Amino acid sequence: MAHHNTFFVCTLLIFSLSFHGTDSALNFEVINQAAQTPGGMKFDQQLGIPGAKEILAQVNDFIWNEVLEQTTPEDRIPMDHIEVLILENIVGGDGVASANHINVSAIFFQREPDIKHGFRHLMSHEMTHCLQWNGEGTTPQMLVEGIADYTTLRAKTVDRARFEKPGDGEKWDQGYHITALFLEYCDTVTPSFVAKLNKMMRKKYDVGYFKEITGKPVEQLWSDYKAKYGGKLETKYGRKDIA
Ligand SMILES: [Zn+2]
Repeated sequence: MAHHNTFFVCTLLIFSLSFHGTDSALNFEVINQAAQTPGGMKFDQQLGIPGAKEILAQVNDFIWNEVLEQTTPEDRIPMDHIEVLILENIVGGDGVASANHINVSAIFFQREPDIKHGFRHLMSHEMTHCLQWNGEGTTPQMLVEGIADYTTLRAKTVDRARFEKPGDGEKWDQGYHITALFLEYCDTVTPSFVAKLNKMMRKKYDVGYFKEITGKPVEQLWSDYKAKYGGKLETKYGRKDIA
């Protein structure tokens, strides 16, 4: 009898672990509309629909749990599925997201040496757009892009050596990597800064949220950040102040 109980407990444990590890609450639909193109064929051969869905579920869990810390359905944008379309080409980049749709260019797969890694990286950025609050459209677009790139830093899909360094940039809201690196710094001032900022941007945006969260206005944070890394860069790379 004891033997049976042990077996039962182990089975439950394995079930709950696997459920937690692989199953996200969102459903994913992936459609390859470029299956006849070189990139679309490479996608089918090296990743395929099931492989893509597995990565999408992992990215989804990572954004909800680790990046935006939206651990309950009430914290999240109401959504039950995300549709990913692979198209022959899209204007202006590798991927684009709006609401619960993500379009990916087949040319991206054609170009990427490691498409599993590349897809995880691209989806970390694009899916953040699907899941982040943007103050009902009032959050500055470059902050929105900074948060999406911040996810890729957190997911460690970025080769940091190839991009801007901490302390780089002219303005905190320059967008993409510049803003993402600054947001990482803000996390060191107040833990979970980005998750807290995202939560506050549910209905509207106010630059004062930076001060509400950290006690310092954004300009102060930016100059502290520049001062912190400006010195470091000068020593390490023999560069003068890059501001
Ligand atoms: Zn973006």
